[in-house]
Order: sequence, then structure tokens, then C-alpha cells
Amino acid sequence: CFALGNCTMLQIDALPAFNDNYIWLLQDTTQKRCAVVDPGDAAPVLEWLARHPDWVLSDILITHHHFDHVGGVAQLHAHTNAKVWGPALETIPARQVALNDGDRIEVLGLEFQILLVPGHTLGHIAYYHQDPTAPLLFCGDTLFAAGCGRLFEGTPEQMHHSLTRLAALPAHTGVYCTHEYTLSNLRFAQAVEPNNPDIAARVAQVTQWRAEGRISLPSSMALELRTNPFLRVHETSVKEKADEWNSRDNDSPSAVFASLRSWKDRF
Ligand code: ZN
Ligand code: FE
Repeated sequence: CFALGNCTMLQIDALPAFNDNYIWLLQDTTQKRCAVVDPGDAAPVLEWLARHPDWVLSDILITHHHFDHVGGVAQLHAHTNAKVWGPALETIPARQVALNDGDRIEVLGLEFQILLVPGHTLGHIAYYHQDPTAPLLFCGDTLFAAGCGRLFEGTPEQMHHSLTRLAALPAHTGVYCTHEYTLSNLRFAQAVEPNNPDIAARVAQVTQWRAEGRISLPSSMALELRTNPFLRVHETSVKEKADEWNSRDNDSPSAVFASLRSWKDRF
């Protein structure tokens, strides 16, 4: 729960969808208004709204055009008339506001800054709420807990640049990504950094959470900086592993990133 301006409160929950997607549900508990991020399926959101008949879905935020993120938008919009925000560079169903890098928007009384983070897709955006105590980042399929999205459309250089931008956000930023990939990402992270104690501790923690049926998210940027190999391409030991994988001297951080990403694709 986060304090907002005007003494309102924000609660954030994950609605599971498909096998491993989460639809983030932002709730302004004072005004009983809510917003969702990347509703790939309308059903979990409509079920939640049916159980909370005095609540209004006011906004739908979209990070990128993949079906598991936009599949429920048209139906939800038709049902609720919620405003649909999405990346300007991609085709998004029912999109009403086309967002570009640097745009600032207000949702549930909160300001979000738009960050263009190409790589997974070319027009992928992230939503960042700058807050002194609890900054929030909704980053779709760009940054995952202990991993990053596959390069479906962009180049390794683009994705590395995008992740570098995200990594520069405050360490206590809450990281809300869209998939429960954390354990398999951590297995790869351990292959890259077998002697990293923070990764070992996270493996133990997340293994226990998943055995209990609990979500492994949100993460924090501080934790990602310590355990996510894709944010650790400057580390000598990470570079050496990347060099081993592609039998090259990866002499720039983005070359190390490219090697890690191709290794992970085959891992
Ligand atoms: Zn995607
Ligand atoms: Fe996805």
C-alpha cells in the first residue's frame, strides 16, 4: 500500500492470466477507482470488477503490442469505457492516447513518465512513477526479475541501452514486470555467476515462495542490480563467461549483453 497525494491510498495486486502472465491492478482505495497494466485477457479483470461492484476501471495501460499483453483490451474498453493508453509506435487495440518517450501522464492521480525501451519490441514503453518513498516501474517484457525479454524486434544494442536507462532509476524503485519467469531466469543467472551469494540467496527465497504458490514479484531495482546478469555486464566475471560462450573478446558492455542474450536463448 502506498500513500498518494490528498491522503488517498494505492494498492497494487497481480491478477494471474494465462500460464505465467500477471495483470497489475492499481487500486485507488479512497476513490474506488482502478487501472490495469497489460490485460492480455479480459476475464480476470472482469471477474475482479464483478466481485467489486462499486469500483470503476478508469484506465488501461499498455507496454507493447504482443497478444498476451493486449488480448483483453478491446473487451475491457467496451465493458467499462476505461481510457486506453499505449505506445505510439505500435498498433494497440482501442488505443486512445499514443505515448512517446518523455511524455508525462496522470493515472489515478499519479504522474507517470513514459520511457521508450525498445528491444523486446521496437515501440515498447515503460511507465515510471517518480516518488521519493515508493517509485514504481511497470516495464512489461523489457526487464524481468533476474532476466530480460527476448529480442523479437530490436537489436542487442537497443535492449542494452533500454536496460541501462531502467537500471539508472532509484535503487528502491519497485519493479513490476509481466511474467513469472523468475526461477528459470535465476537458474541462468547462476550459470553466469556461480559464486554470486545474492543470486544464491534469491534462488533459495524464490524457490520457497513458488513452493508456497506465492508470486515472486514485484522486485526492486537494487535487487536486480545485484542478481540480474543482464544488468551486470560490466562485471569482469560476467564478461569472462560471455567470452567463453561466444569464444570472443566482448570488448563493450553491449557486446557482453548480446552474448548473454544469445546464450540465454539456448539455455
Ligand atoms: Zn511480449
Ligand atoms: Fe509477454
